[in-house]
Amino acid sequence: MSEQVYELVRVGIALTGAFVAMLWLALVLWVYRDAQSRSTSFPVILLSTVLVSSTFLVGWAVYMLVRPRLTLFEEYSQGLRERAELLDASSGDLCPRCQGRLQLDYRLCPNCGLEVKEPCDRCKRPIRSTWNLCPYCGHSVHQPLASHPAHAHSEEEQRGA
Ligand SMILES: [Zn+2]
Ligand SMILES: [Zn+2]
Repeated sequence: MSEQVYELVRVGIALTGAFVAMLWLALVLWVYRDAQSRSTSFPVILLSTVLVSSTFLVGWAVYMLVRPRLTLFEEYSQGLRERAELLDASSGDLCPRCQGRLQLDYRLCPNCGLEVKEPCDRCKRPIRSTWNLCPYCGHSVHQPLASHPAHAHSEEEQRGA
C-alpha cells in the first residue's frame, strides 16, 4: 500500500518535472526568437536567452520589461512611414492666398492663379522669393540690404550739418 503511494508520488514528481522542463524549453526558445526579431546584436540575443534559461520565469519577467518595444520589422515600417510623411510635407507647399496645395515646381497656384514663384534671372526656372539662391543653377536671388542709396545720402547730410 505504502509502496503504491510512493510510486504515485514519484510519477507525479516526474510529470511535474517534465512539464516544467518543457515550459522552460519553450520559454527559452520563445525568448531567443523574440530577441532575434527585436535586435541584430548577438550579445543582446545571447544575454536574453542565458538570462531566461538560468533564472526561468524571473528572467523572462525581466526580459519582458527591458526588451526593445518594437520588433525590427515594426521599426523598419515605422521609419518608412515617417520618411514618406516627411517627403510629402517637403514636396508640397501651401498657397499664401487660398492655402491650396502646391507642388514644388508650380509657378502659379492651380486653385486661385496666384503667382507663387518668379522665374530665375539666369535659368528662368520657377523659384520662391524667400529662397536665397536658385536651387537649379545656384544663381543668387538674395538682394543685399546694405548700401541703400537714400540712407547713405541722408547720413552724409547729417555729418555735414
Ligand atoms: Zn491659391
Ligand atoms: Zn536659376
